[in-house]
Amino acid sequence: MARKAVQKISKNRVEVLSKLESEKYDLLVIGGGITGVGIALDAQTRGLKTALVEMQDFASGSSSRSTKLIHGGLRYLKQFEFGLVNRIGRERAIVHHIAPHLVHPDKMLLPLVKGGNFGKWLTSIGLALYDWLAGVRKSERRRMLSFKGAIKAEPLLNRDKLEGAGYYAEYRTDDSRLVIGIAKTAMEHGARLVNYVRATEFLNLNGKVSGIKVLDEISGKEFFIHAKKIVNACGPWVDEIRAIDGSLSGKKLHLTKGVHIVVDKKKLPLKQTVYFDNDDKRMLFAIPRGKFVYLGTTDTHYKGDIANPLAEKSDVEYILKACNSMFPSAHLQIRDVQSAWAGLRPLIHEEGKTLSEISRKDEIFISESGLITIAGGKLTGYRLMAEKVVNLLAKKMERNLEPCLTENLQITGGEFDNYQSVQLFVDEILSRYSSIIPNRLDAEYLVYNYGRDTEFIAQKAVNMELEPDLAIAISELEYSIDNEMVARGVDFFERRTGRINFGIQSITKIRSEVMAHMATRLNWSSDRLQQENSLLNASLKKVNIYGIE
Ligand code: FAD
Repeated sequence: MARKAVQKISKNRVEVLSKLESEKYDLLVIGGGITGVGIALDAQTRGLKTALVEMQDFASGSSSRSTKLIHGGLRYLKQFEFGLVNRIGRERAIVHHIAPHLVHPDKMLLPLVKGGNFGKWLTSIGLALYDWLAGVRKSERRRMLSFKGAIKAEPLLNRDKLEGAGYYAEYRTDDSRLVIGIAKTAMEHGARLVNYVRATEFLNLNGKVSGIKVLDEISGKEFFIHAKKIVNACGPWVDEIRAIDGSLSGKKLHLTKGVHIVVDKKKLPLKQTVYFDNDDKRMLFAIPRGKFVYLGTTDTHYKGDIANPLAEKSDVEYILKACNSMFPSAHLQIRDVQSAWAGLRPLIHEEGKTLSEISRKDEIFISESGLITIAGGKLTGYRLMAEKVVNLLAKKMERNLEPCLTENLQITGGEFDNYQSVQLFVDEILSRYSSIIPNRLDAEYLVYNYGRDTEFIAQKAVNMELEPDLAIAISELEYSIDNEMVARGVDFFERRTGRINFGIQSITKIRSEVMAHMATRLNWSSDRLQQENSLLNASLKKVNIYGIE
């Protein structure tokens, strides 16, 4: 299936800003993480004229700081949340089907260790139940591996404590790219989405919310946006928005922090993803991604600045210790950590439950002013959450909307018949553009980020008289300015291309040209360029906590 021309409608930030000021909407969504963009796409495609404002860049909150798995949540079986596993488990295949370039099948190895969380029989039954609840195809269902089989699958496992392993199916994604993909799709269907616009106050008409006052964080301009209904999809910030609405009572959020670290794959040459027990019985993931492996996560109470959770040294040391215990030959040390990120789980507080026992279920609150808040949930279940919210809106608005379309609505760039055709497209890109894309990992990087739109990026890059890495980066930048509303340097390096977390050392080589090109394209003054460079330095410092060169 060929991709039509890249559509340019409604993706220019300045144009979208002027529309937001002059138009009136059926629905205004606050928050541009996975929950908000999912709702915007569902609502717009079912006939509601929709707008969305995001105070930072799209996906800057929890939706770029997750474990990046589209998973059913094996551990929810332990909490007997069969309904959740059933719904979310089935959802994995749907999200893979609509975005096969972004959501990849990935087999998980669950080592069975002496004194660990899972015995052989319980694991075998648990994984079979997990597959059954999620409707996993027969050929993909779990297998139980002997000690030898487990070592064959992953030779780095600790042989002293290993007894065997479970082997089962999940999916892997890039959370920020998934958010950007859904946002682009919503824009292409006519929704108005904008980043760096903060909701600061509510407008009320006869006691009901009828719009918001907003602040453009880049120009400093304030203006109003009018809408019949408003949804608060602010993840860890939902209670702040409820407070502005004067409706913060009853159930509240309980934020917990999760940290991940990234190391070079040469330091931990894993063959495959492992979901393993730590000695304290918490479970961690070790996930290979391109030239890197990332590991996590922690789970601790959080009370600090919501916008800036940090990977503390103690968090990093905890993960390293767990990793060295499961993969002892790696001898990972703090200096091997290339990058780290911390995210906040926006959970709904439940009295008397431990952090890992608190449910990941989503919940909707409706305030007296009519503000609809959606809290909790997971990346994986975004589409179902969106459908639920839009069904509720239809009821409240007494509107007969189209049925939900998103189960079969391709995310832009994902126009492939199946996963095999994604792989064939990678081969095709590699053979057609070998002068600038020298190896398969580089071709995969592009196709997994941009899907069919890789063609536009590679085509442009091949005609540039630049060194290949720089040509690709400048071409990606051009694409992301035209199609993905990249507004700041850090948007490009962090959430559009993932280089800050997966390839921090590659930034130095291309940084000054990329920033200069961006300044020209976006008409930045020299002061603005300086400000952007400082913001980028701060982000680099935040992830590269130990000053790795
Ligand atoms: P966010 O992504 O935080 O989005 C809310 C947005 O609202 C933010 O971008 C913020 O800037 C914006 N906002 C706030 N206030 C305003 C305002 N006044 N005006 C405008 N905008 C505003 N889920 C999975 O399915 N798989 C996983 O592997 C997984 N792993 C996880 C690991 C960790 C460590 C964490 C923390 C979470 C994980 N999750 C996972 C859960 C998942 O990441 C979250 O449930 C999801 O990203 C929440 O998305 P959201 O859109 O609700 O919130």
